[in-house]
Amino acid sequence: MKKIQIIDSKKHVGERVTIGAWIANKRSSGKIAFLSLRDGSAFFQGVVVKSEVDEKVFDQAKSLNQESSVWVVGTIQEDSRSKFGYEIHIEDIELISEAIDYPITPKEHGTEFLMDNRHLWLRSSKQHAIMQIRNEIIRATYEFYNNKGFVKIDPPILTGNAAENTTELFQTRYFDRDAFLSQSGQLYMEAAASALGRVFSFGPTFRAEKSKTRRHLIEFWMMEPEMAFMNHDESLEIQEQYVAYLVESVLKNCDHALDILERDKELLKKYTELPYPRISYDEAVEMLQKNDFDVTWGEDFGSPEETFIAKHYDKPVFIVNYPKAIKPFYMKKHPEREDVVLCADMIAPEGYGEIIGGSEREDDYETLRKEIIDFGLNVDDYEWYLDLRRYGSVPHSGFGLGLERMVTWISGTEHIREAIPFPRLLNRIYP
Ligand code: ATP
Ligand code: MG
Ligand code: MG
Ligand code: MG
Repeated sequence: MKKIQIIDSKKHVGERVTIGAWIANKRSSGKIAFLSLRDGSAFFQGVVVKSEVDEKVFDQAKSLNQESSVWVVGTIQEDSRSKFGYEIHIEDIELISEAIDYPITPKEHGTEFLMDNRHLWLRSSKQHAIMQIRNEIIRATYEFYNNKGFVKIDPPILTGNAAENTTELFQTRYFDRDAFLSQSGQLYMEAAASALGRVFSFGPTFRAEKSKTRRHLIEFWMMEPEMAFMNHDESLEIQEQYVAYLVESVLKNCDHALDILERDKELLKKYTELPYPRISYDEAVEMLQKNDFDVTWGEDFGSPEETFIAKHYDKPVFIVNYPKAIKPFYMKKHPEREDVVLCADMIAPEGYGEIIGGSEREDDYETLRKEIIDFGLNVDDYEWYLDLRRYGSVPHSGFGLGLERMVTWISGTEHIREAIPFPRLLNRIYP
């Protein structure tokens, strides 16, 4: 008999098949038992009718515990009343392994309890839906950049110097010297762009974020495109096309997952309409001050500020030209202003905060060298990076999109911890 996955059941209507599954839930009466089956590919209804099967099969169906694993044999039938449009009429059940007292029951559980049981919590339908959206965003990222001729490049995870903010660095030993876990692959991606033109990376990023927020993980994944011969405005166009493409792909390929998450699809559709609005940091500060926010020019925005600004738009919004002092040393100075840089943050709607940070990179050797020194960094560590400006320097731009920020936003999830299989948080490295 054919062994199939639930996701393919549509192709096997009317056939007798075997499915390996876990019991996600169960309800029964004297005459009929409904099993909610889960095989990893999807959730599905199994029906056991007492009058149609051996008595022992019906009794077994009624006695199965949540998360026990089974082989079921039956016929796939169309059923418009079931959520899936199909169900399996079971004729036989073979128990593989019994689960006793599965801790996550259909009742409500507290967050800490669920986090302690993250390895099991991942099996629930909501988490299943979020992981599918995460997978689709990764898949669509490769598709988007490959279609545009970008080359995937993998920057190192262990680095000899800090790319960004020294206070958030994870330090480790590298034989007889110190090393750091990557906070961004960006400097290496610039070297790669000089070799291959248009490149993108997708890899883990480590930041010792000392504050607890709903938007920060200690270990997260970032997409970092870098493009030679591209100025900042052109980079913004790539950024909005990319984000719109991700939203479109999720709408197209994760319809069921969005239903499970009760995500408003009409709202998501708006996010595929380009262009996204652009406002300057100066305008943002003015807007905040007019509305009684206690911000002065020169400060970075936090989540309340970003949320307030985003409320004025029905799509993601770019905030461009932040003060030089609050951005990393490698960002290119505005040609007409000493105090701001050619950069932008893309702020997601609905209060999901910054999802992209990007800039044009400083391409002048002398200016960059001075910036490195002014930022208190050791120039010797950056000789290789300065070489990129010594030998055929070109205008170039790039950006970083946080995968989990994107997943949190698109799936409409409250907290970023649900956007990654095993979140690393300030007070948690288990499981
Ligand atoms: P934030 O202002 O939210 O702390 P950032 O400006 O420090 O973010 P960047 O250095 O610009 O972040 O990194 C690029 C992108 O990586 C961000 O736009 C965001 O999507 C994501 N990101 C940054 N820090 C984290 C984190 N701790 N957890 C998850 N994603 C993050
Ligand atoms: Mg930060
Ligand atoms: Mg920021
Ligand atoms: Mg940023």
